[in-house]
Amino acid sequence: MPISDVTDEQPGRVVDLRSDTVTRPGADMRRAMAEAEVGDDVFADDPTVNALQDRIAERLGFEAALFVSSGTQSNLCALLTHCGRGDEYIAGQSAHVYRWEGGGGAVLGGIQPQPLPHRADGTLDPADIAAAVKPDDPHFPRTRLLCLEDTIGGRVVPVDYLRAATGLAREHGLATHLDGARLFNAAVAAGGDPYEQARLIAGHFDSVSVCFSKGLGAPVGSALLGSREFVARALRWRKALGGGMRQAGILAAGALYALEHQVARLAEDHANAALFAEGIKGVPGLVVGDAQTNMVFAEPAPGLSAEEVQERLARRGLRCAGYPGLLRFVFHLDVSRADTEEAVRIVRDALDVAPRG
Ligand SMILES: *Cc1c(COP(=O)(O)O)cnc(C)c1O
Repeated sequence: MPISDVTDEQPGRVVDLRSDTVTRPGADMRRAMAEAEVGDDVFADDPTVNALQDRIAERLGFEAALFVSSGTQSNLCALLTHCGRGDEYIAGQSAHVYRWEGGGGAVLGGIQPQPLPHRADGTLDPADIAAAVKPDDPHFPRTRLLCLEDTIGGRVVPVDYLRAATGLAREHGLATHLDGARLFNAAVAAGGDPYEQARLIAGHFDSVSVCFSKGLGAPVGSALLGSREFVARALRWRKALGGGMRQAGILAAGALYALEHQVARLAEDHANAALFAEGIKGVPGLVVGDAQTNMVFAEPAPGLSAEEVQERLARRGLRCAGYPGLLRFVFHLDVSRADTEEAVRIVRDALDVAPRG
């Protein structure tokens, strides 16, 4: 069923573009979950969790993987494994790990972030990275880790940049972590075999986090990947964080289904995002950016707040995410081409009028 049945804004059809986390498992995924063989994963006994960990590790070219409850838990396990108390990690000012995860590294690990400004394409300036690495001197925290994100704000980070930035990090003795919540969106956008492309991206990093519960459409779960030794240490942190999940094979089955069947189709989300961006370009009241993988961002024109636009759209059955001065539309498994056309129609209807006031 392509249309979500959320009905709190208006009765009937709602196209939900708030995030790619809103997808619901389809019949085949639910069947795979219901029929999953399970065991106690804290005893490493759950065959489906083990199968998922083996499969994602192989797909991304790592020795080992750990199934975790969320992307946040995955990044946090990575921070705690790479860094100790009084260490610091370098990340972008808008990086999820720095800005959107409750400061978990500081709260639970005594790990200090060193945020850096993003360039227009979402990357960090290598000169800024180099300058942020502290000398070995008791005045300073020990700089241990560079965290990058791909996709970031829907943008694909060029692989040449990943190579250069991680190379620079290594020259300075830093470990490298990729928050690849939407790694497969970047891989699919590159064209060709998506697993091959994902390996090319992931291969530059010591550890990688990838989400099954975003565009891939599983209900719950992420994986943290690294060397066998890294993952063994991360496993201790997962336990300490309360992430030992017993018969987690029920969840892992959904993630495994997503990994096997719902990667290549991300291209449809990207095509729908592009169609939507084209369709709403030139609508008065909105400055629309280019579609970047599965996301479209738009700025309300002066005199119109994001909240006001969001409300007008919601009243007509289109939900999106709103930030100060910015709207975000995210395309996913539960948004069909017909839904996309409907979303364009709604934006036009909601805004093709003189802004009030
Ligand atoms: C969603 C997201 C996460 C965190 O995932 P949760 O499962 O929501 O905790 C981490 N990084 C990025 C880039 C994300 O988009």
